[in-house]
Amino acid sequence: MTNRSALALSLILSLVCLPVLAQTSASNSDLLARIRKEENEHSQIMKTMHMLADVYGPRLTGSPNHKNAADWASKQMQSWGLENAHLEPWDFGHPGWLNERLTAHIISPVKDPLVCEVLSWTPSTKGTVQAKAYQLFLPERPTQDQLTAFLGREKTRVRGKIVLAGKQTIVPISLNPPAKRLTNEQAEQRFGPNPRPLTQPSPTPTPAVVNAPRPLTNRQLDEQLDTFLKDNGALIRVNDAGREFRQIRAFNNRTFDVDKALPTVVMSNEDYGRISRILADRTDVVLEFNIVNRVYPEGTTSYNTIAEIPGTDKADEVIMLGGHLDSWHAATGATDNAIGCAIMMEAARILKTLGLQPRRTIRVALWSGEEEGLLGSIAYVKQHFGSFEDPKPGYEKFGGYFNIDSGTGRVRGASVFGPAEGVNIMRDILAPFKDDGVAGAIASRSRALGGSDNTSFSQAGLPGIGMGQDPIEYFNYTWHTNLDTYERILEDDVKKDATIVAWAIYQLATRDDLLPRYTNDAMPPKPAEPTPTAAMPATPKLAPKVKRSDAKSAAKSGRKTKSRPKAGRQRRTRRRGR
Ligand SMILES: [Zn+2]
Repeated sequence: MTNRSALALSLILSLVCLPVLAQTSASNSDLLARIRKEENEHSQIMKTMHMLADVYGPRLTGSPNHKNAADWASKQMQSWGLENAHLEPWDFGHPGWLNERLTAHIISPVKDPLVCEVLSWTPSTKGTVQAKAYQLFLPERPTQDQLTAFLGREKTRVRGKIVLAGKQTIVPISLNPPAKRLTNEQAEQRFGPNPRPLTQPSPTPTPAVVNAPRPLTNRQLDEQLDTFLKDNGALIRVNDAGREFRQIRAFNNRTFDVDKALPTVVMSNEDYGRISRILADRTDVVLEFNIVNRVYPEGTTSYNTIAEIPGTDKADEVIMLGGHLDSWHAATGATDNAIGCAIMMEAARILKTLGLQPRRTIRVALWSGEEEGLLGSIAYVKQHFGSFEDPKPGYEKFGGYFNIDSGTGRVRGASVFGPAEGVNIMRDILAPFKDDGVAGAIASRSRALGGSDNTSFSQAGLPGIGMGQDPIEYFNYTWHTNLDTYERILEDDVKKDATIVAWAIYQLATRDDLLPRYTNDAMPPKPAEPTPTAAMPATPKLAPKVKRSDAKSAAKSGRKTKSRPKAGRQRRTRRRGR
């Protein structure tokens, strides 16, 4: 071909193609402008936040608070015009539980209130209980023999006492407060076209001693201590929160059975330390507690909250978006994860309000049971889609699930379970948000459960998509703590998040093809379930969460391993990824 005819051909081609391209991008930029305008001028997101956090929080799985929040969200989405709004039951297997009242005081040698939270699924005190404090100095990482010997010596000393379980954790003062936003460079490193995985220090291996007895796991230690305290007449168990600035993370009695534990509180590290130091002076300390907890048998059935915008010509294909509605109970679960639900509800509201008609069905899901091990989303995926190894009819028609669960920060990128072609499509979809700091999308190959509900989908071999966000105050202040309230929400960030999700969901629901998935040959193998005594490694890559060894986990976004779903609190090593 001569240069001249090539030129002619390209001219013809451009004349033919240009109007089409121009039209598409013009209507697309018009659509993006409409989405942004709707959110800027008519946002409902803070109203949704207020209802989910202030009015219904905390939303512990199985509790009437969670059920009421789910009912409200379902009705709210229905009022926005979403269809098929309903609650889908799944078997939680534990009763619901709520703390109604807690007073905590030091009575002697001084009088002062104490800052505490109740451990969930523990019983009430018998009215107001006043007793001497006794501190147990548990051995470090004991073997079974060491613990048995220690408890044998302490047997007669705990009766009638309020027992401080362990020595105080010394929390170092931080001289380098962590950044609240990722820099553009950090976001690029994580989500850009050439992501550089965060290097994680590998744990120092404990030198193997042949035939040496293994130390007990924290779980084993905890359960044996509960049994010991109960059997030997202790009145109340007090755990050290072990965090700075009176932050408290209170999780659950691992058995979920109030008959198997004492009334238990998690006390601020400062109050715990004060009492410990006074006891060390050999001065008696008298404490007083009044705890009222209530158990709800009907909570053994919990609910995922579902609503849809039905598709048109591809209505049998489904794109999902969601977050978990359940929370821990020390605050109102605002950043974890009322805001994720509010963002996803808002994204659907925007699309519905603009009268957009997606080709595929768009389905919102607000999960429960996430904090106890992703239980609601696992049950849902199993019921509706099956898995790569055992597919249900819906499996092939599923086009992707977007999850938000890393607090209030702006979205900076996405992690997509799937091959490079799928990630490239997602990167193109997110490209218009470059100026808002969205760096792109990266591929995940992990089918390990963990972090958040998107991994229930990736575990099944389905495209789970985790949105990575600016950390803001999440890992250090609000995540699972008594500080997780409405005040911690950054309105401007979450409105941007809702527009990003609305746009991305609509694109996936409207393009000609479903997001490409791993072919049968390329599907990564499903990891083996960890054995109950195995350590649980964690490899958060994208929205890493700081994790205490005594807490339930989570890197919410992508590749990490996960513990047994019903294990209650899950263990992860502490990591920082920023
Ligand atoms: Zn969460």
